[in-house]
Amino acid sequence: MKKDITEFFTELFYPPRCMVCGEVLSQSEKRYGLCTRCRPRVSVIREPFCMKCGKKLLDSTLEYCEDCAKSDHGRFFLAGRGVYLYDGVMREIMYRFKYKNRRYYADCFARQAYRLYHKWISDIRPDLILPVPMFRGKMKKRGYDQAVCFAKALSKVFLIPEGKDIITRVRNTLPQKGLSGAARRLNLKNAFHIRGNLVQSKKILLVDDIYTTGTTVDAVAEALRDAGAALVCCMYICVGSGKRRRKK
Ligand SMILES: [Zn+2]
Ligand SMILES: [Zn+2]
Repeated sequence: MKKDITEFFTELFYPPRCMVCGEVLSQSEKRYGLCTRCRPRVSVIREPFCMKCGKKLLDSTLEYCEDCAKSDHGRFFLAGRGVYLYDGVMREIMYRFKYKNRRYYADCFARQAYRLYHKWISDIRPDLILPVPMFRGKMKKRGYDQAVCFAKALSKVFLIPEGKDIITRVRNTLPQKGLSGAARRLNLKNAFHIRGNLVQSKKILLVDDIYTTGTTVDAVAEALRDAGAALVCCMYICVGSGKRRRKK
């Protein structure tokens, strides 16, 4: 990524700090957003992971996580990939990213995404990056949307345009936590609206912060496919680990 003059001065006055311990980073540490000591504490997703949704798998003989195997890989997105494992350290980082205004973490996440998945992305060649939208009321309260920050950063590293306000969340949904699978899907049904014919025949990279059960990205992917998108693939900052399931 090329640095512009604003970024130069921002770095001068607010030098990049380690996302874990807050130490000022050396030149070589900057690209990871982590100091040398903290880097091993953050788990980057590496194989084996679910070939469908990208969840970390504990067993290398597996191809799919339990959720994807159960649904017979029947999702509205082609495949998804996560950058970091959503564990203790990453939970703290994500908390600061979402609630403590550490928006610049998005650049570190995107650079790591590039290191892991540039081959995958160049094979798919998405036309457009779209973030999973937050409900407007929530966004006003917090002032920014973390998925939008990540989408913008990905757009810079992968050189793929980012679409603004193409997907809107037309109603606030109940928190997904604690709902059963069917209730989750019902909760999200028709919650998203796609503007005009802006995704018609386009390959979409859908971006979100954390992937857990996949119901949200799948609901958005369904809306995108209904609106004529040729293909939807997903990328998230964090992903959990899938339960064990052996290849048949
Ligand atoms: Zn550190
Ligand atoms: Zn999966």
